[in-house]
Amino acid sequence: MRKALSGMDHYFLEPVLINVGEDFKSIVWKAQYDMDFNTECLFCFSEKITGYRVEDEAGRSGKVAVCPHCEKVNAIYA
Ligand SMILES: [Zn+2]
Repeated sequence: MRKALSGMDHYFLEPVLINVGEDFKSIVWKAQYDMDFNTECLFCFSEKITGYRVEDEAGRSGKVAVCPHCEKVNAIYA
């Protein structure tokens, strides 16, 4: 008899609830530095944006690229 796949739901992670263009409040998110992107910010003239691995209160995790100048979310990546 097969075992129920309990505990598997963990692997179906919902995306984090944040959108491109939103202000990124690093205090609200459990943000961990991931990587730098040599990409221009979509919202200001910064030439570099920073990627963070984030997790919200519900345990949803994802990666967001944030401009260090205007602190807006530029991208959500995997
Ligand atoms: Zn910017």
